[in-house]
Amino acid sequence: MDTKYNEDTSDKVKATIYTKKREGKHLGATAIYGYKKNPKDKYKIIIDEKSAIVVRRIFEMFVNGNSIQMICKTLDKEQIPIPSVYKNLNRGQKSVAYGHWNTKTIWDMLKNEMYIGNMCQCVNKRPAVSVKKIIKNPKDKWIIVPNTHEPIIDKETFELAQKMFGKNSHITKKTKEFLLKGFLYCRECGHTIGINTSHNGKGYCVCNFYRKFSKENYCTPHSMPYSELEPLILREIKKVVRKANKELITSTLKKSDRTLVKIKQLEKEKEHLESVINMAQKKDDDAYMDKLDGNITFETYSNIRNRILAEKEEAQVKLKAHNELIDNLKGKSINKDYEKIVSDYLALKKPNRKVLSALIDKIIIDEDKNIEIKYKIRTPFLT
Ligand SMILES: [Zn+2]
Repeated sequence: MDTKYNEDTSDKVKATIYTKKREGKHLGATAIYGYKKNPKDKYKIIIDEKSAIVVRRIFEMFVNGNSIQMICKTLDKEQIPIPSVYKNLNRGQKSVAYGHWNTKTIWDMLKNEMYIGNMCQCVNKRPAVSVKKIIKNPKDKWIIVPNTHEPIIDKETFELAQKMFGKNSHITKKTKEFLLKGFLYCRECGHTIGINTSHNGKGYCVCNFYRKFSKENYCTPHSMPYSELEPLILREIKKVVRKANKELITSTLKKSDRTLVKIKQLEKEKEHLESVINMAQKKDDDAYMDKLDGNITFETYSNIRNRILAEKEEAQVKLKAHNELIDNLKGKSINKDYEKIVSDYLALKKPNRKVLSALIDKIIIDEDKNIEIKYKIRTPFLT
């Protein structure tokens, strides 16, 4: 609860607020970017298709390997209004300034479970009523109620994004990227095994718990040169995936083809844009009738008309872009040789982090250097 924030409210009010939140009722004054408040039920939120398009793109870009900085750059380049500006635009206020996307906004969005349909409240708190600064509540203080509204992002994409956070976020440009970084765990203490780079650029594995508290002897070093570990593990993985059921994986892959999923989603957005264009025509006709009937002045009519035309034009531009994108994607998905993709993939011809994270969950290493690999692909994929 935002206890301090609500210092001036009675316990009874606080209790009511808390109960409502526990029931998954949305109590915010506005909905988060991507959603809007349901005009028919003030405690519910519904998708705001116009901004939801941007949310889906952000996730799409991220899981396809774009850094958060790159995403910001792309959105800025396309002059997509930042959420705060967008909200004002939506309230009908004109804003000339676009404002730049910042990494924190994107970071928070990519981590926000609201986008998979879970109501998360009490995420932030204010230290005091008069203080504008907002600080984050610890996660155990959040109230999360699952499946309260329609998701914008499917669970699979969301989870993939979270994985990419864990495995990519600590990799800076300067340090060398080790294929297995983020996958290694200590058998004895359960903490991660880190890879430290020595001055000659060689990697060395060490249990992070040991490294942090080496004096206390909570764990043992588990040290070994990375160059010995990687080939050992890759050989082991290859041995296992060789036995995988290729036909089954191929057909599953086809079904979950991101391109096909993307096309479907774009087509849904296209429908929305078409309805906006049709509505504009209708609104224009209505306004014209109002003017003929003398209900509105010519000036008002002309203002309304300009607004409608701008809206329509914007939708038309987007529709054109959508059509091009759909055609482009359709061309791509037809020419895919799934059998070859799966074979290459399973042979680990080009082992990269993305392939690895699709295949394995974690690698557990004990002090005697015994290795256990926890696979993600299970039966029926492994025979
Ligand atoms: Zn350990």
